[in-house]
Amino acid sequence: MAHGGPHCAHCKVEIQDRSSMVERDGKQYCCNNCAMAMSHSA
Ligand SMILES: [Zn+2]
Repeated sequence: MAHGGPHCAHCKVEIQDRSSMVERDGKQYCCNNCAMAMSHSA
């Protein structure tokens, strides 16, 4: 099985929908909420 998709750096879900993917500081997130959560806690 192909498993080459990126995973959300926050909730670890496999990102299948590239259109809703958010890149922040070189990391990929499944959605803007995850990107926001990481940037607030870091
Ligand atoms: Zn996420």
